[in-house]
Amino acid sequence: MIEVIAFDADDTLWHNERHYTEAKEIFTKILARYHDERWIEEKLDSTELQNLNRYGYGIKSFALSMIETAIHLTEGRITGNEIQEVIAIAWDMLRKPMEIFDGVRDTISALAETYKVLLITKGDLFEQEAKIARSGIGEYFSSIEIVSEKTPQSYQAILNKHQVQPQNFVMVGNSLKSDILPVLAIGGIGIYIPFETTWVHELVPEEELADKDFIRLASISHVPVMLASLTSPVS
Ligand SMILES: [Mg+2]
Repeated sequence: MIEVIAFDADDTLWHNERHYTEAKEIFTKILARYHDERWIEEKLDSTELQNLNRYGYGIKSFALSMIETAIHLTEGRITGNEIQEVIAIAWDMLRKPMEIFDGVRDTISALAETYKVLLITKGDLFEQEAKIARSGIGEYFSSIEIVSEKTPQSYQAILNKHQVQPQNFVMVGNSLKSDILPVLAIGGIGIYIPFETTWVHELVPEEELADKDFIRLASISHVPVMLASLTSPVS
């Protein structure tokens, strides 16, 4: 019996990765007179991954990684004006209008009539709260959980808080690493909805998935029918 259904936010309910891809292209152009594009991208990616442990997720963390990369790659020759252009990339990202995926609003509002619906996202508290407020769909969630990392422990803490057993809990998301595998690890049900681009940090090697039992759907609109089939007895 499914009681609680939780959704990831970024690239599950609305566009997010696209903004980082666009930002990286602008950053690369700013540094184009110093270095080759591929080298800049590689260096930024590795700095970003290293800095996750220092600053966590989100645009502010990404901004610091861009500045650090710019200084490093130019051996300090980057100008103040160029640094200002890099900061402007982050400002623009923070102001991006929310682009909610097709079917999200109808699906979430319909599910909220039958199930307890949660939103579980990781990242910067201030930034994620602002996005949820701007999305206009926050009202459909009975609770919003913002965690610094999605681990079996952080999911278990959310289940405890909402007094739900893992077998009665479904998590829907676009990241196998963050939304599916940690939920399976505590005995919950995972519905994976892949998105066009996956951030390198969220990729999972194929061999780690071999014995993993999760549901894969093409669209969030298919979630209600899938949940109904999980709930009703097989005839
Ligand atoms: Mg996501």
